[in-house]
Amino acid sequence: MKVLVYSTHGFEREFLSKANQNKHELTFLQDKLSENTVDLSKDFDAIALFSSDNANEIIIQQLKQNGVKYISLRSVGYDHVDIQKAKNCNIKVANVPAYSPNAIAEHAVALLMSLNRKIIEGQKLMSKHDYRLDNLIGFDLHKKTVGIIGTGKIGAAFSRIMKGFGCNLVAYDIYENTSLINEIGITYTTLQNLCNQSDVVAVFCPLTPQTKYLFNKKTFDWFKSNAIFINVARGGVVNTRDMLDALNNHKFAKAGLDVYENEKPIFFKQHDKKPDDLLFDELKNHPNVLITGHQAFLTQDALTQIAQTTINNLNQWEKLGESENEILTIQQTL
Ligand code: NAD
Repeated sequence: MKVLVYSTHGFEREFLSKANQNKHELTFLQDKLSENTVDLSKDFDAIALFSSDNANEIIIQQLKQNGVKYISLRSVGYDHVDIQKAKNCNIKVANVPAYSPNAIAEHAVALLMSLNRKIIEGQKLMSKHDYRLDNLIGFDLHKKTVGIIGTGKIGAAFSRIMKGFGCNLVAYDIYENTSLINEIGITYTTLQNLCNQSDVVAVFCPLTPQTKYLFNKKTFDWFKSNAIFINVARGGVVNTRDMLDALNNHKFAKAGLDVYENEKPIFFKQHDKKPDDLLFDELKNHPNVLITGHQAFLTQDALTQIAQTTINNLNQWEKLGESENEILTIQQTL
C-alpha cells in the first residue's frame, strides 16, 4: 500500500520503518493533516495520523475524493477524526487500542517522586555549588494514602506500583475494577472522600463531557493541604486557572502534569518564539508545578507497540479488507 504518514516526529520514524519492514511504501511528512495539506494525499491508499492531526468532516470528504481508503491512527484516541463521516465515505479507520499502560503509569510515578523528593530543586542547587539540604525535605510514600481516579489500564498499573511502595489505595471510578480489588485490595469511595483523605491524588480517566473540569475550585477545596496532584490523562480534566488559584491559596501542595488543557498548539514542536499563552506561562513557571510535554507514553516499548499495531492494521486491510482494530462504534470523548 502507498501510505502517507502525516505529522511524523523524529522519535517515531525509526520505529515505524522497523515495523514496516519495507512492506508498505511509507512517505513521511512532518506537516499535520489540515485543509492546507490534505491534497498531498492524492494517489495514496492510506494515511497514518497522530493525535494532533485533524480529520474533520470537510477533510474526510477531500480524502475520499483523493482516493484514500484507510486511516491508521498512531494513537488510542480518535476524537480528532470524524468517524461517522469516514463511515459514510467508506473510509476505514483503525486505532492502536492499547500500548504499554506501564509507560504512562511509570511516568506518573517519575513526576510524583521528582516532586516529593525535590530532585529538580536539588540539582539546581548543586549547579550553584549549594549542597545544603534545608529546603529539600520530602515524605515517605510508605503507608501514605494514594487516591486514583480512573482504574482502567493505566490507573491499574499505577495502583500496582503504589501498592509496591506500601501505600493505602483508594479509588474513584464509574465502574469498579473487581480484579484490582481482589488483587491489591483497593477501596472504592466517592471523589470527595478520596480527595479528603489522599496524600497523592492521581488522575487516569479519559476526557469526556462528564470529566471535563472534574478538577475545579470545588474539588481542589476538598484536598489535603500537603497533597500532591498528578495528571497524566488529559489536560481538559483539570481547570488550570482553578488549579493555580488553589495552589496559590495552599489548598494543596504540588502538581505534576504531563498534559495541559490548551496543549495542542504548543506541544510536540519547537517554537521560534515563546507560545502566546499567559496561562501556560504561569503554569510552567509556577514553583510548585512540574510539567512535561505529553511524553508519558514515550518509551521504546510503547513506541514499538504503537508502530507495530499501526503497520499491522495496514497489513490486515491489504490482506483481508478489514482490521481487528477498526472503530465501529463511536464512544463520546472530547
Ligand atoms: P481505560 O479506558 O483503560 O481506563 C479509563 C478508566 O476511567 C476506566 O476505568 C473508566 O471507567 C474510567 N472513567 C471513565 N469516565 C469516568 C468518570 N466520569 N469518572 C471516573 N472514572 C471514569 O484507559 P487507559 O488506557 O487507562 O487511559 C486513561 C487515559 O490516559 C486516556 O483516556 C488518555 O486520556 C490518557 N493517556 C495519556 C497518555 C500520555 O502520554 N500522557 C497516553 C495514553 C493515554
